[in-house]
Amino acid sequence: CINHCPTGALSEVDQTDEVWTMLDDPTKHVVIQTAPAPRASIGEYFGLEPGTPLTFEMNTAIRRIGFDAVFDTNFSADLTIIEEGTELLQRLHQSLTGESPATQLPQLSSCCPGWIKYIEYFYPEMLPLLSTAKSPQQMFGAMIKTYYAEKRGIDPKNIVSVALMPCTAKKFECSRPEMTASGFQDVDFAITTRELVKMMRESGIDLPKMPKSGFDEPFGDPTGSGVIFGATGGVMEAALRTVLELVTGKKVESFFENADIIPVRGFEGIRLAELPVTEVGPVPELLSHLFTDFEWLKGVTLRVGIAHGTANIHKVMEDIKNGGIFSTCHFIEMMACPGGCLGGGGQPIPTSPEIRAKRAKAIYSEDAHYVVRKSHENPQVLQIYREFLPEGPCSHKAHALLHTHYTPRDGSSG
Ligand code: SF4
Repeated sequence: CINHCPTGALSEVDQTDEVWTMLDDPTKHVVIQTAPAPRASIGEYFGLEPGTPLTFEMNTAIRRIGFDAVFDTNFSADLTIIEEGTELLQRLHQSLTGESPATQLPQLSSCCPGWIKYIEYFYPEMLPLLSTAKSPQQMFGAMIKTYYAEKRGIDPKNIVSVALMPCTAKKFECSRPEMTASGFQDVDFAITTRELVKMMRESGIDLPKMPKSGFDEPFGDPTGSGVIFGATGGVMEAALRTVLELVTGKKVESFFENADIIPVRGFEGIRLAELPVTEVGPVPELLSHLFTDFEWLKGVTLRVGIAHGTANIHKVMEDIKNGGIFSTCHFIEMMACPGGCLGGGGQPIPTSPEIRAKRAKAIYSEDAHYVVRKSHENPQVLQIYREFLPEGPCSHKAHALLHTHYTPRDGSSG
C-alpha cells in the first residue's frame, strides 16, 4: 500500500487532529523540528519540480499554522555526528590498540528507525554493532525538553515537541519507551510531509507564495553536514568530514575538494570506500577527555560501507555474518529506504530513481551553499557542549541524554 512505510515498519497514522488540539491549547508551547528531506520534496504537492527548495517559505507557513518555534533537525544532526563520530573513534581505539579485543566493529549507523527495527527483528545477535547514538530527531527531542526549556524558562511539561519527518517509522521511534531521557516523552508527535501539507491546506496556506523566514534560536545555525543526512551516503560523508578533521588537524578540503567526499556519494545500492589516514594531528580540546594522541590511527586505512533499501541491507548483513568484505569495514551506513530519507515513506508519491536524484541534487546544492559545512564547527553545538555537556561528547551526561539501547525482538514482540 502506498501509505505504508517501505520498510514495513509501520503504516501511517494521521496525527494532525492531536497536533491541532495542542496548537489550540494556550498553556502549551508547541515547537516543531523539520528534517531536510521533506523540504526537498514538499514543493511537489504544490505543483513544483521535485527538489525545489522551500525551506524558508515553509518556516513562515509553520508559524502561520500556529507553532511557537521552528527548528531545523539538521542542527541535531550535527550533534549526532559528533556523538557517533566520537563513538567510532572510541571503538577504533579499543580495537586498534588491543585495549579491548572484543570491540564491536564495524560500527553500524543508528539514525534510521526502519533499519533499527529491521536489525532488532532479523539480526538481534548483531545489535552490539549498532552505534548507541540516538537519531537527530530523538537527540533534538531530548535537548528541547532540557536545554531549551532551561534557556527559555519554560516548564518542560508544557512543551509539545513535534517533528516533521520523511518517514512513518519515525512515529514508532518517538513512542519507544526508552525515548524519555528528558523525563518526558522526548518527541510527542512525528508527522509526515503529507500530514503537514494537510495542515497547510486546512489553514488555506499556499506555500510557494509565503515570504521567507529563518529558524528560531538557540538552534538557528545548522551546517551543510546536517543537510546531507537526507541522501544515501550523507551520514557517512558528514561523519568523515568531522572525524578526518579532528584526527588529522587539517582541513578536509586538503584531502577532498570543497569538502565533497565523492567516494561515498551515489545511488548504487551497496558501496564501499577506503580512506587512508596518512597523518595525524594533536588531539583537539573537544576530545581531550578521551584520547591523549592519535598515533594509533596513523597509517590505518578506514574502510566504510553504505547500503540503502532493505534488500541491500540484507545482503550486507549476510556478508558481515559470513566474514565477507563488509565484516572488515570500520563503519557502515544503513538506510532502509531507497535513496535514503529522500525516498522515505512519508514523502510525496510517486517516487522514482529520477525524482530521487533530483531531490538529492537539491540536498547537495543546499549543503554547498552553507558557510559552515562541518558538524564540529557549528558554534551553537560547541556552545551546548560548553554550557550543558561540559564533560564532552560520549561523557556520562551525553550518554544519558543522547544515546540509547536496543531491544532484540521476535515476530510477536512487535
Ligand atoms: Fe525513515 Fe529515512 Fe529510514 Fe526511510 S531511510 S525509514 S525515511 S529514517
